[in-house]
Formats: sequence, C-alpha cells, structure tokens
Amino acid sequence: MVITKEKRRRKDLWGGGVENLRRKKMRPAPESAGRSDFFDGLPDDLVVCILCKLSSSAGSPSDFINVLITCKRFNGLGLHPLVLGKVSPKALAVRAKKWSESAHRFLKLCAEAGNIEACYTLGMIRFYCLQSRGSGASLMAKAAIRSHAPALYSLAVIQFNGSGGSKTDKDLRAGVALCARAAFLGHVDALRELGHCLQDGYGVRQNIAEGRRFLVQANARELASVLSTSTTLNWHHHRHTIGAGCPLLSDFGWNVPAPEAHPANRFLAEWIGSRGGDAGGRDGLRLCSHAGCGRPETRRHEFRRCSVCGAVNYCSRACQALDWKLRHKAECAPMEQWLHVDPEADAAAVDAGDERMPDREEDDNGVAAL
Ligand SMILES: [Zn+2]
Ligand SMILES: [Zn+2]
Repeated sequence: MVITKEKRRRKDLWGGGVENLRRKKMRPAPESAGRSDFFDGLPDDLVVCILCKLSSSAGSPSDFINVLITCKRFNGLGLHPLVLGKVSPKALAVRAKKWSESAHRFLKLCAEAGNIEACYTLGMIRFYCLQSRGSGASLMAKAAIRSHAPALYSLAVIQFNGSGGSKTDKDLRAGVALCARAAFLGHVDALRELGHCLQDGYGVRQNIAEGRRFLVQANARELASVLSTSTTLNWHHHRHTIGAGCPLLSDFGWNVPAPEAHPANRFLAEWIGSRGGDAGGRDGLRLCSHAGCGRPETRRHEFRRCSVCGAVNYCSRACQALDWKLRHKAECAPMEQWLHVDPEADAAAVDAGDERMPDREEDDNGVAAL
C-alpha cells in the first residue's frame, strides 16, 4: 500500500467517512482467489475486527490517526461505529492546544458510537470550556448511567456547587448520591468527598466514624494505585520533598508521585491556562487551585476558599484535602492579605454564600484511625 494524496485522505478521515460507509454496503469477500492483493481480498468484517483491536490498544490520538491514514479502506472502516466505540481512553486524550473542529467531530462520533470515555471527555469539555452546559451535562449523564465513575463524580461536583446555574441550584443530596455511586465503583476523589460529607453532615446525616472509614479507604486505594504503577520504589529519594507526594505516605515522611490526572482534567487545566487563567472568558472566575483538577468556576464565588489564607479556592472538599497535603500545607499561612483584603470583594463573597472551608490538617486523611 503506497500512501499518496495524504492531504485529501486526511480530509476524508474527518469528513464524510462514516456517511460514506453507511451508504455503502459492506463489501463481501471477492470470490476470485486469483487476485494479487490479499488485503483487498479480506472481508470488511474482518478488517473492522482488526481495526477494533488497534483502536482499543492505541496509546495516543496520533496512534489511531496513523491507522486511519494508512489507506482509504482503513480510513472508511476505521470510522465504523464498532471501531469508534472501542477507541481507547489514551487515544481520546486530546490536548487542549490541538483542539479543532475535527477533534470535536471525532469525539462526537465516538460518543455517538457509545464510547463512554468519549461521552465523559466531550461532556467535560463542552460543560467547562465551550460553555455548552446542557449538552455537556447530558453527555456526562450518558456515561454516568453506564457506571463511568469519573462522570458520576463530576456530576456530583456540579450538583454540590450548582455549577452552570445559581447557588440555589445546589442539590447536596443529589451530589451525595452521585458521589456514593462513584465511591462504590472505587473512585478515589469520590471516596474522599463522601468521607468529608459524612464527617461534616453535608448533604447527608452526619456520621463521623463512617466518614473516617471512607477517608481511610480513599488513602488505601490511592496507595495501591501508586504502588501498582511504580516500577521502582525509590521512596527515600523523595523524602521530605515538597510538591508531589502520596498523601498517605506523606504522613510518614515519605513521598511518591501524585496520582496522574484524568486526561479530561488535564485538558481543562491546559485550556484555561492557554487563555491566561481566565475561566470562560469572563472576569472574576477562578480555577480550582488543585493542579490535578482544572475545573473553573461557572459563576463568581462558586468555589470555597481556604479559611486561613484565603488565597486558594477549591471546587470540592476532595480537591482541598488532596491539595492541602500535596502542596498547600507548606504554603498556607494567615498572611497580611487579610489586612489588605478588598472589603467590598469580601462582602460580596459572603453575600454570595462563599463558604470558607476550614483546612483539616489532622482529620482529612484517616491515618489516625489506621
Ligand atoms: Zn477541584
Ligand atoms: Zn490556605
């Protein structure tokens, strides 16, 4: 197979590939066995089967695109819903700087083909970056219905904050219910969030012991995931370094790298970072201060501030608790900012119900209960 006219083929890739495929009937295997090109002799369903394997094991978006631009036949069959439904999370991890109409169309096709990771990623991008709240939330819901834990957790954060609406749109009970479902599926942030909700009696009847149990579980899972991804354990090299660390081990003076952020969170952070940190193009909207989160406010004073320094804001208790141990513990201090604070802005924050969440240095990790 010689690659010629690559440009035109690239256009085909994002263009009417699927429509062309739907119009055409699947080719049957040619009856004559005397053809020189055995590839042409392969029946379409076999090629689709191979492409499914390739799409589900692709390590990056370019991996999958390289398959599609190999030849016209791969280009057409590669956009078959069976193939798109299996595209791996890594191949869907589009970077914000590479966002384009084509990338949007690709994620949309994958979402329509039933790829729940694509539903979630596109849902997050539409909700937080493209200001398309309704379609973003419904895409996340589509993934959540099929037990996609990050989608359940993200919907919980939206409910807790009343994101996309006013503060009267907060639905704490719905948030707790979504969080509980995500926690049941083993989602670490959801476990941590649920633990704090139970400890504080936030959206659920207070149960401190149960809350602590969830926090212990969150740390245990986090540790397990760090251990399973670490090939060599050079813990002593990381001792007492500040910046990145495993929350549980940091309590014993050991640090290992922080868990990797979901590609959708990374996209959000990059998207807003590339726009000068201005969330959504409107003034006064802040970004969640936990680096691995990337969620921006959807209205002013939506997020809680650190009660001690007032310099950082978080979309959730989970983000605050994690960032506290990863970074903020070393930076937080009751600074003169309180003396120089703009009284008007401060009053507005209070009026808006901007809750100031106190840091919980000792009880947010559950280590004491171990
Ligand atoms: Zn956050
Ligand atoms: Zn602080």
